Amino acid sequence: MTKAKSPARIFCVANQKGGVGKTTTAINLAAALAALKQRVLLIDLDPQGNATMGSGVDKNQVDNNLYQVLIGQVTLADACVKSESGGYDVLPSNRELSGAEIDLVQMDDREKQLKMALKAIEFDYDFILIDCPPTLSLLTLNGLAAAHGVIIPMQCEYFALEGLSDLVNTVKRVHRNINNDLELIGLLRVMFDTRVTLQQQVSQQIQAHFKDKVFETIIPRNVRLAEAPSHGMPGIVYDRNSRGAKAYIAFGKELMKRIKQQGAAA
Ligand code: ATP
Ligand code: MG
Repeated sequence: MTKAKSPARIFCVANQKGGVGKTTTAINLAAALAALKQRVLLIDLDPQGNATMGSGVDKNQVDNNLYQVLIGQVTLADACVKSESGGYDVLPSNRELSGAEIDLVQMDDREKQLKMALKAIEFDYDFILIDCPPTLSLLTLNGLAAAHGVIIPMQCEYFALEGLSDLVNTVKRVHRNINNDLELIGLLRVMFDTRVTLQQQVSQQIQAHFKDKVFETIIPRNVRLAEAPSHGMPGIVYDRNSRGAKAYIAFGKELMKRIKQQGAAA
């Protein structure tokens, strides 16, 4: 594998609310960036293993998974497998990972194990995406400690805003105490239905409050995105002409543009 000149940009896809579209976003963004000729690693930080399965990798058939990496049994490179359908690498997970919390608690630098494991491969990729579980647990903390930024997918529903402040505060605390590099990259509106007035209202509220931290791209509710995981494919590969696929490609481009602009401003 050719080495990059600069280390990978590492982003967590996080929201402690369940079922808001984290994994769908992580998988499709990974595939979109890969389609844009970027070298991508998708890390499945959720014991549910949905990002693994949705990338066409059988979570119960892999030799190693993130659990063995976090407890130092294997190197990260040894645990990575290829998503043939997505064109990116996957660090798989399965139920075993739920045991990691207990092992980690007993370790020094327990929130930095993922960050340390990533050091060895950071020049092998352009982007590393981390699909977080729906918790603010020690696993999620390992993700936030290792990342440069957080992407928050959210549905434009009334209660969506409630949990958001907890997450934004967690990001600020991690930034202050553990990882100075961490920043909120942006909020991504997902599963959006333009016909629903309430969604439009909440969307406007989000924009008014978070301003340029809201991505311009909006991901529509689209059944093709929901069907894709059962075929072991990212939605953008399963039906690249679907509205959902086009939106995630646009999101990949928007993210790359944002990073370029930030780089130029720095
Ligand atoms: P969890 O918190 O359990 O990890 P999650 O936040 O990762 O969930 P997903 O698994 O990505 O959420 O999505 C939840 C459900 O919504 C899934 O069935 C998924 O296929 C569906 N879904 C996600 N995004 C869309 C979309 N844009 N249009 C239609 N269905 C979607
Ligand atoms: Mg998920």
